Amino acid sequence: MLRVEALAAAYGQSQALSDVGLDVAAGEVVTLLGRNGMGKTTTVRAIMGLLGSVGGRVTGGDIRFGSAALIGQPPHAIARRGIGLVPEGRQIFPSLSVEENLVATARPGRWGLDAVYGLFPRLRERRGNSGRNLSGGEQQMLAIGRALMTDPRLLILDEATEGLAPLIRAEIWSVLGQLKSEGQAILLIDKNLSAVMRLADRHVIIERGRTVWTGDSAALASAPELREQYLHV
Ligand code: ATP
Repeated sequence: MLRVEALAAAYGQSQALSDVGLDVAAGEVVTLLGRNGMGKTTTVRAIMGLLGSVGGRVTGGDIRFGSAALIGQPPHAIARRGIGLVPEGRQIFPSLSVEENLVATARPGRWGLDAVYGLFPRLRERRGNSGRNLSGGEQQMLAIGRALMTDPRLLILDEATEGLAPLIRAEIWSVLGQLKSEGQAILLIDKNLSAVMRLADRHVIIERGRTVWTGDSAALASAPELREQYLHV
């Protein structure tokens, strides 16, 4: 479904990515792992066509979604092809209500307001509140709900549980598990290794802008030296 090959990207003179490769098949959950600053968010920005807006650019490689080549396409065109992003820092619209946030970028498909409220009952209770009045956890639920409302074939989450209270984290992991069981393909960046090892089918480790390892949870679990070398855990 998604295939990233030999991806290279730079911010000005600084080469952030030099050789990133990863695949996500339909229905698969894949994590992108690596220490801070190794290029995970840059990889996500390249996939979504967002590098230009933060002063970066793709300098090589290929990104395919189905048969479509994504490099050079604008973000809205990439989103319309069926990739939904839950960005780092959530980036919900602070002046819009919960419901307005959800419908702002919605497309007809599997997800409507009732389905999203079913997944996150808290959002139904807060449907009239403006984005800026939500807790961090509620904002994160809203960011996930908003991405689902675009009816994504692939959902990408960048640090979706970062900085959240344990109970909210648990709720988000449970929702991601539910989405997986319904066949949703997911590409996930998260520092909680034990949670991603339970959820994901495969993991891709990047180190200084290149893919250095890919394998399943059993392989990662049985390779403590790998975790120590590349993840420092
Ligand atoms: P983190 O977990 O800290 O978000 P990451 O693996 O997502 O890390 P990136 O944010 O992709 O890493 O950063 C990769 C490299 O690119 C780092 O050296 C970072 O300093 C640099 N970088 C990221 N964003 C920019 C930017 N907008 N302008 C210049 N350099 C950037």
